[in-house]
Amino acid sequence: DEKLCSECGHCFAVCQEDIGVAGRDIRACINCGQCTAACPEGALSVRNDVESVAAAVRDPSKVVIFSTSPSVRVGLDDAFGYTRGAYEEGKMVSALRALGGDYVLDVTFSADLTIMEEGTELLGRILNGNAPLPQFTSCCPAWVKFVEIFHPDMIGHISSAKSPIGMQGAVIKTYFAAKHGIDPQSIVNVAVTPCSAKKAEILRPEFNVAGRSVGRPEMCDNDYVITAKELAGWIKAEGIDYERLPDSDFDSIMGKGTGAGVIFGNTGGVMEAALRMAYTAVEKKPAPDSLLSFEPVRGLEGVKTASVEIGGQTIKTAVIYGTENAEKFMERDDFGAFHFVEVMTCPGGCISGSGQPQGDIIPPPDSLRKSRISNMYAEDRNLPLRNSIDNPEVQQLYREFFSEPGSEFAELMLHTHYYPRSGSDAEK
Ligand code: SF4
Repeated sequence: DEKLCSECGHCFAVCQEDIGVAGRDIRACINCGQCTAACPEGALSVRNDVESVAAAVRDPSKVVIFSTSPSVRVGLDDAFGYTRGAYEEGKMVSALRALGGDYVLDVTFSADLTIMEEGTELLGRILNGNAPLPQFTSCCPAWVKFVEIFHPDMIGHISSAKSPIGMQGAVIKTYFAAKHGIDPQSIVNVAVTPCSAKKAEILRPEFNVAGRSVGRPEMCDNDYVITAKELAGWIKAEGIDYERLPDSDFDSIMGKGTGAGVIFGNTGGVMEAALRMAYTAVEKKPAPDSLLSFEPVRGLEGVKTASVEIGGQTIKTAVIYGTENAEKFMERDDFGAFHFVEVMTCPGGCISGSGQPQGDIIPPPDSLRKSRISNMYAEDRNLPLRNSIDNPEVQQLYREFFSEPGSEFAELMLHTHYYPRSGSDAEK
């Protein structure tokens, strides 16, 4: 809204200095939305999809399924006057039921599933040399788009595993639908996220594998993304007394995640989760305490590196947030010595995605990011299962549907491809 713009330049500064997009010769947007999080005037905002989701809820022929990303539970509470990053899961699930969701599922389930596929792919690259190293994480669609636009020569380094939401949508409209006797064409999948880039990701034309499997390629795996901010606004608009909501549990199956799935929202969380899983897969024993609290990849530094011994091999890793930091990392002389690199676009990871409620201080201060991060780690410590490989619902999914990680069917459903972008394809 240009009328509200005071020309302070905060939006341009974050896009140029942290994201590394503004100011280049190529006109582009990677959809991270950090410009909206930096705008103190409310002149920039992310497209709100609540009206479309509310219409689906009112339509009796539709089965509306909400799936919540890990970070939403440390953001939602802040919209109700706190700005403290508290971990709030039970009220979040109750709110989504009160808003009319037929099922409420947890993306931490698919975070664990992502680790199984991404970790298996990494072991293949290391042991068989079947793709270039280092392997980049693929869960951040803004990062993926950054590579597609500015570094297409690096596309082969990105894990082919879909993001957790990409997997969640595909599995709901196939396996979950069959288990519950629901026609997949009646399902409206709504991802609730901290992230504006997910709104663009679900529109990628190749994210329709469930539709292709039933001869309806026009059916997207996910139908809508609403952010935590949008969810908070919807709760308020409906007059729901959030404070007094009782706790509610997720539905099953696809409603259970491990601590490794929870910490996906933190910078370094995907790396830590992957190392726990890789250790157990290779060593055939539980991950040691050092990997259940892997300090070298934790914290708010923009670039962190660490090494781990697994199966007699030293695995060199790096954890980065900010695509500008990632670009500089790719220019390092020792880049080729790394095996696995996690990249998140937003500062501190998804816990401070542009869709998170912000409170009064814009942009969100580091104290809020740290609080959200430590509350995610505290939840991880409290959970009985902390390694994705131990998730019983994921184990069941492989037993009943995919056979094993990296199987031909898993490759078809849970993996994807990327392509160089230019022109209008880079701008949209
Ligand atoms: Fe979205 Fe997370 Fe990437 Fe930010 S870091 S753009 S919230 S996926």
